[in-house]
Amino acid sequence: MFQEIKDAVSTREAASFYGLKIGRGGMACCPFHDDKHPSMKVDARFHCFGCGADGDVINFVQKMFSLDAKQAAFKLIDDFHLNIDTKRKESKHEKNQRIRLQKEKERKEKIRVAYAEEFRRFRSRMGDIFRTLHNWILDYEPTREQWEAGNIDEHYICAINNRDPVDWILETLDFGEDAEIYEQYKHREETIASYERKLTDAAGRATGRSGERPSSNSEPERIA
Ligand SMILES: [Zn+2]
Repeated sequence: MFQEIKDAVSTREAASFYGLKIGRGGMACCPFHDDKHPSMKVDARFHCFGCGADGDVINFVQKMFSLDAKQAAFKLIDDFHLNIDTKRKESKHEKNQRIRLQKEKERKEKIRVAYAEEFRRFRSRMGDIFRTLHNWILDYEPTREQWEAGNIDEHYICAINNRDPVDWILETLDFGEDAEIYEQYKHREETIASYERKLTDAAGRATGRSGERPSSNSEPERIA
């Protein structure tokens, strides 16, 4: 933007526009010090041989009107009706657009973080369920006598029926394709509730029976 302005307006044009009297050879009385005799050379740039003031058209306007570089640039664009694309032109429609995009980005980021958190919670809950089932298989494994008597602990039956399906869900969450993972994620509440219920029910039946189960046989699958 600055270069475009400098290409479009020389310091001499600007100085003249802002009321500086420029004599032959581009010499003018310096507006930046108390100059009685023209000691400033004004052309594409300006240089004062009296006070050393020096710069380009933007510096000139800055010094003359006590502006920063950007404000000076905008002033030149306005005063000389320059057709230069500036950030200022963005400030209405495009600025709103930019803010809207920024907000949308933030919103998506929030969703992404929430998803990641929820996913971790699901993964961790299924991991807990798997460990419980795995431990039940070790802890409640029937003895030979219990097998023969058909006296299989409910914990064990539940664990045998459900450990592998839970393991499969964990495998999918860890190594599945995005679509498979999302499919599991979508149903996470039902999945967690369903396995938690199975665990609770099995534990309930086990304590309710206190070791006796008259109608039992040794087919764990029937609980599935
Ligand atoms: Zn000067």
